[in-house]
Amino acid sequence: MATDQKVGGSTPPGRTYNPFEQGYFFDGSLARSSSGLGRWPLTPVTRVRIPYALQVYIASKDTHLRKIHESFMKEALKEARKALGSGDVPVGAVIVLENKVIGRGHNQVELLNDPTAHAEMIAITSAAATISDKWLRDATLYVTVEPCAMCAGASVLARLKQVVYGVPDIKTGAHSSLFNLLNDPRLNHRIKVIPGILKAECADMMVEFFQTLRNNKK
Ligand SMILES: [Zn+2]
Repeated sequence: MATDQKVGGSTPPGRTYNPFEQGYFFDGSLARSSSGLGRWPLTPVTRVRIPYALQVYIASKDTHLRKIHESFMKEALKEARKALGSGDVPVGAVIVLENKVIGRGHNQVELLNDPTAHAEMIAITSAAATISDKWLRDATLYVTVEPCAMCAGASVLARLKQVVYGVPDIKTGAHSSLFNLLNDPRLNHRIKVIPGILKAECADMMVEFFQTLRNNKK
């Protein structure tokens, strides 16, 4: 790059021509380098302007979707409460297809003496029976606690489209806490995951359960 070069009559003598000094960003707006002359930016700068009306639309759509997720998570919480009756850990799940609940389940490990009787497993079996299909391709699983390895594996086998959960399970969670089975590129199906819906309510239910359990043991 030559110095003392006049380009278009705008670069003063003694300064290096910088093509980024005056040009256009990818969105067509006029750009002026403020980082000094004579230096090439390491990476090109991209600015995307989102019109205000579109921003409002996106925000309202997000709010609308969140409300839908919360309303189905409340259904999962109702299921979780049912587990308390048999002294089971309060985890509940519902499976939703086209805005309708097609499967429900709550943890029944103690009740049935069955280590596989997790809320998600029961909800998946119930949903598959409802639509008479082993694959739940467009369905969403709502569950109060992050699925374990067994339930995440079953979700992949069921080809679920989406999993929405409330609170992470740091001891057994298989979305992000211990493993990432729902989004493992080596598997032939990956699932969109939305964590943290009604997280406080889902967490409170678990905390209360284990506190009661500890108090009863004293
Ligand atoms: Zn499980």
